[in-house]
Amino acid sequence: MEILRRFILHSDLNNFYASVECLLNPKIRKDAVLVVGDQEKRHGVVLAKNYVAKSFGVRTGETVYEAETKIAGKAKVTKITARLSVYQKISKKIKQVYLKYTDNVESFGIDESWLDISKNAKDYTEAMQIAEMIRKEVKETFGLTVSIGVSFNKIFAKLGSDLRKPDAITLITRGNFKDRIWGLPANNLLYVGRATDKKLEKLNIKTIGDVANADVTFLEKYFGVMGRRLWEFANGLDLSPVKHSSDKDEIKSIGNSTTCPKDLTTIEEVKTVIYTLSECVANRLKKENYYCKEIQIFIKDFELNSIERQMKLPYPTDTCNDIAKYSIELFEKSYDLSTPIRAIGIRLKDFSEVMQTNLLTTNHQIAKSEQLDNIIGKIKKKYGYMSIGRGNMLLDEALGEINPQAELHIIHPQYYRF
Ligand SMILES: [Mg+2]
Repeated sequence: MEILRRFILHSDLNNFYASVECLLNPKIRKDAVLVVGDQEKRHGVVLAKNYVAKSFGVRTGETVYEAETKIAGKAKVTKITARLSVYQKISKKIKQVYLKYTDNVESFGIDESWLDISKNAKDYTEAMQIAEMIRKEVKETFGLTVSIGVSFNKIFAKLGSDLRKPDAITLITRGNFKDRIWGLPANNLLYVGRATDKKLEKLNIKTIGDVANADVTFLEKYFGVMGRRLWEFANGLDLSPVKHSSDKDEIKSIGNSTTCPKDLTTIEEVKTVIYTLSECVANRLKKENYYCKEIQIFIKDFELNSIERQMKLPYPTDTCNDIAKYSIELFEKSYDLSTPIRAIGIRLKDFSEVMQTNLLTTNHQIAKSEQLDNIIGKIKKKYGYMSIGRGNMLLDEALGEINPQAELHIIHPQYYRF
């Protein structure tokens, strides 16, 4: 069997938010810089920190109060409220550097990307040269450092970028991965979260090497499909492709529409349809890991006259509840129902990769409705789309049967090419 030769990079911008802040205001460089979600609240969380703050043991995700306690009296603390749109702009520009070497650039959050450079590198020497050119260009052009992992699959490339930082390149090959990686804790593997890690520990599986050497059927017994995936990851058998940059990043809108089984005459009926559509677009939005900042509705009456209206949302969201709520609000502002409705559509636009940070920690309502969306999504995936509906969808038999997931209704996204 011919071994698939791949050269994959994982580039990780070091302390990205904090590094950008220090770059924009060099005076704070020697301070312990905390980029926080919500400066007003003592209970805001640390989203990023520079190396000075790190040296006092500050960790991402802890409260500002905890972080300040650790640093108190030892260094000057500078707190900055995260400016995500600034970081996003810089992140996009850096991506242009990656795109010089390959079209296969897959973002992982705002500060990490995988690059498949197999077409431009014939061996590891050339792959390392490309990594070095990227490291240099990002540093010289943007004043930011990256750590890059170079390997033959995405999992090891990501591990490589974590191994040494900042401003470093780490090579993990078929020849050295057992030495370099197998001794690391199992939770260093991508997708091993806290729950999986605990379970692994109970089974006395502590290192990546332990995962690799475990019996795969044993892992499957305890972790299902994920058990096999982890075993593959640990053994360097991950074959997942690096997505093409246009596969995901430049989707400009996500929309679904439906021609109703009967003309709608009451607001209750309209709400039912809007909920169904919202659920569908929210699911698709989540799959892309996006939040939308704008919604658009489309209404066609039974005489086939149509209107389109749009509104900016007060915050970026990906929940069905929010999308439905604002779509209904927009509908009520735009249409009086004097003429029965034949078709409705919802389109989400103006995407961001991050949710507004203060909402992350303070808006429990959003967290809750996200949870609900996730649960409903899981049930639908397992038992089929029509297996579950929100209460209001079940009230109307005809409308409850709308299945906007049917290919027919999907408004295909427009792609943008660099
Ligand atoms: Mg990073």
